[in-house]
Amino acid sequence: MTKAPTIVERLGTVAYRNQGRSDARAHILVDTAVCNGTCPHRCTTYVCPANCYTEDDEGQVRFQFEDCIECGTCLYACDQGAVRWRFPDPESGRGVNWSLG
Ligand code: SF4
Ligand code: SF4
Repeated sequence: MTKAPTIVERLGTVAYRNQGRSDARAHILVDTAVCNGTCPHRCTTYVCPANCYTEDDEGQVRFQFEDCIECGTCLYACDQGAVRWRFPDPESGRGVNWSLG
């Protein structure tokens, strides 16, 4: 019987059309001034499966959209009004390309 792929293996099949492109436009905008100013929990740094939300060595929240897999979690997890999605993507209607599924 064929073994089902793990989540990590599945994520490895995602093709990111934005990576390596200097002209890519973000489909998610985050007001990191809110993240680093008044956010009491920084929950998106825990729940994003692609680690798009991280804390740097100085404890500042950073966001990068290029690894996003469009799961939608951050849109609902952020209760501080800091996350804004731009769908459809102004350029192509999507943020990532899927190799499978
Ligand atoms: S929950 Fe919202 S405000 Fe807080 S760190 Fe995440 S995106 Fe920023
Ligand atoms: S949509 Fe999902 S993968 Fe993309 S930034 Fe939000 S939580 Fe992370």
